[in-house]
This record gives sequence, structure tokens and C-alpha cells, in this order.
Amino acid sequence: MKLHWHILVAIGFGIKRNWHIFTALILGIIVGIVFPFQYGEPGPHHEVLLFIGQAFIKLIQMIVVPLVISAIIVGIASLGDSRQVGKVGARMVGYYALITFIAVVIGISMALIFTPGKGIKSKIDQQQTQLVQDKVEKIKETTSNIDIPSLMLNMLPGNAADPDVKENSQPETFIFQTLIALIIFGCAFASIGEVNRPVVAFFESVFAATMKVTDWIMVIATPGIFSLTAYYVAKAGVDTIKDLWLYATVILLGLAIQLFVTYPIIIKLFSKIKVTSLYQAITEAMMVAFGTASSSATLPITIACCERRAGISSKICSFVLPLGATMNMDGTALFQSVAVIFIAQAYDIHLTPLMIILIGALAMVASSASAGIPSAGLITLALIVQGSLKLSVEEVGQAYVLIFAIDRILDMFRTLVNVTSDTVVASLVAAGEGELDYDLLKNQEVWKEVV
Ligand code: ASP
Repeated sequence: MKLHWHILVAIGFGIKRNWHIFTALILGIIVGIVFPFQYGEPGPHHEVLLFIGQAFIKLIQMIVVPLVISAIIVGIASLGDSRQVGKVGARMVGYYALITFIAVVIGISMALIFTPGKGIKSKIDQQQTQLVQDKVEKIKETTSNIDIPSLMLNMLPGNAADPDVKENSQPETFIFQTLIALIIFGCAFASIGEVNRPVVAFFESVFAATMKVTDWIMVIATPGIFSLTAYYVAKAGVDTIKDLWLYATVILLGLAIQLFVTYPIIIKLFSKIKVTSLYQAITEAMMVAFGTASSSATLPITIACCERRAGISSKICSFVLPLGATMNMDGTALFQSVAVIFIAQAYDIHLTPLMIILIGALAMVASSASAGIPSAGLITLALIVQGSLKLSVEEVGQAYVLIFAIDRILDMFRTLVNVTSDTVVASLVAAGEGELDYDLLKNQEVWKEVV
């Protein structure tokens, strides 16, 4: 318990360093509650908030693609040979998988214990419930029809110049294809020796320039985050939150366990890092993640916090953080596990142990296939519903609409968790590789500004 207070105090100090962003978040929540949408429609003042918020998000998104490309190429090339890349990569994937697995176990257990979907059964049309139940019973006997080989084939990058490739790619698989191509080329640059210098030097300048642009864009972080928070709280409205309070509480509690129990234990088990110092170093990234609900948009700040304060070497940051921002979504996996079980409970579907295991496994895959953008987890949730309950989104539409109504608010919290776990894994990998500057992490007097 003592450690949790220390963590809260550390986050408090982090907030104090950048109190204006925190104030923007709190004011945003208050304004959103006081001026909700009227009859589900935004007023002119809401449009102004959305305009400012979207301008901020668009500006950050502008730098995400050059940042990810340059960071991964530079990161891998500077790791040296491909054996080193393999070692760091294996460590990274191992930690990401462990953290996501724990998140899924927490989500499933909490949803089964607190049964958040039972209470909303009355809101679901009884006839529809009967239809859904009949269908699930029939399909339970048949085996899963997910075509794994073609799913894997879709992940592989093809000829980028072929117009059909772009047309046929889903956004999620497109991101995977791009990442795989970048990793392969990064490894190639790492293994060709000195001759890689012109290209690596080029990407080093692109990376430095994107970080510079980040500093400039952060000037409007405060109004941007205020506007986004106010708009989406106003849109959700307090009434929806009242209806779904148990569902929201289960997810928030699960995310809190992940943040305050799982990460500290994993950090303690695998390194000598002081949890409170790490959390204090990354508080700005947490706040920006909360405000934007986008791991990708937060990536520049995450990198800045980790390099300038947490003492993680730039080669580890450049490799681990961009991959984490697109693939490591433990907060999303937790939310998805709860959401699917919530849907099952709302339609009175009996979950067999096998179905529960399938929900967990699919949540691990679907979450990492979610892009680091707002509501991406809600889209890939359909894959889990389809894969485990064998139901389409339309069939469970009434429960889905409820989840949708409150999603943005929960997205803010789960993105905070997603981003935090990226930094936890980056610091663990760095510590394991001797790439963590403990002196910098401990010595806050020399920490550089991030926002
Ligand atoms: N918004 C989340 C992120 O960017 C993804 C999701 O859960 O929708 O990390």
C-alpha cells in the first residue's frame, strides 16, 4: 500500500511540473459535464472545441509517420548486427506479451466476478436476446472458422507500388505490413556496415526534425487537450455514464490494478528501476495520452520523456517505443475482454471455459492489431465478438451501442495505460541491455523540459 501512495505522490510531482496540462484536463471534464450535448446534438461552442482539438491532433499526426519510419530505421541500425536486434526484439516481445496476458486475465476475472452486463439485460429487446441465444447454441458445436494462414499472409508486406495491395489492405494489416517492412530494411541497414551511413544519417536528421516539430506543436498542447476532453465528456453525457457505471467501474478498476500493481511488480522482479522515478519521468506522456486517446499521437512525447528523463538510450527508445505504440495495447486488451463478456451477459449467453479462453486469446491478438488511434479497440472488438461468440456487430447491436456511447471516456484511460506500459517495457529492455542511465533517472534536477 505504501508503494501506491508513493506512486501517486510521484505522479503528483510530475503533474506539478506541468500543472497547466493537468488543469486543462480537469477543466475540460468540468466544462464537458456542465455543458453537455443537447438532445445528442453539439452546439456551436462544442464545434469550436472540436475544431481546436482536431487541429491539435492533426498536427501531431502529421509527424507520426516520419517519426515512426525514421525512429525504427535509426533504432535498428544503431543496435548493430541482426543478432543484437533479435535479442532486444525477443526481450521486447516477451515483456509485451506478458503484460498483455496479465491484463487479459485481470479483465476476464473482473468481468466474471462483477457481471457488469447482467444489469442492462432489461435494456435489450427480449426477442433479439432469444434470436442471439439460439444462434450461439447452434454455432457452439461447430469449430472456429478463423482462417489463420490467410490472416498471417495478409500481415506480410507485398509490392507497395501495386495499387491492389493498398486497396485490399485493412488499416490494421497495413500498419503491420509497414512495420515488418521497416524492421526487415532496418536489419539490412544494420548488417551492411559503413555503407549504410548516408541513409542512416538521413533518417537521423528526419528523426531530429520531427522531435523539434513536436516541441513546437506542444505549445498548443494545453488548449488542445482542454478542448478534446471537454468535447468528448460533453458528447458522452453524464446519463450514459450513470447507466453503465458498473461496466465503466470494472474497466477502470482493472486498469488501475494494471497501473498500480502489475507494472510495479514486474519492474521490481526484472530490474532495479525505481518505479516512482519512472512514473514521475513520464507523467506528461500519461496526460497527453489521456487527453488525445491516441498512443501514436503521444509517441513523440513518450520518446521525449524516456530519452530526456527516464535515461533510456535513444537506440532502445527508437526501436521499442514506436513498435509499442502500434502493437502493445494491454489496456485495450483488458477493455476488450470486459466488453465481450459484458455483451455475452447482456444477451444471457452462457460462456463455456473454452469460449472464455478464446476471448482471452483473441483479445491479445485483436488489441495488438488495433492502431494507436482513438476508438481503434472498439473496431477490433468486433473481431473478438465474431471469433468467440460467433456473432456479428449488428446482432449484438443494442449492447454495442451502449459500449459505443461511453467509449471515448474509457479510451482516454486505457490509452494512458497503453502508453505507460510502452515506457515500462522500454525501461526494462534498456535495463537488461545495460542501456539505462540510472543517474539521469534519479537526478531530477538535470531533467530537460518535455512540454
Ligand atoms: N486509443 C487506444 C490507443 O491509441 C487504442 C484503443 O484502445 O482504442 O492506444
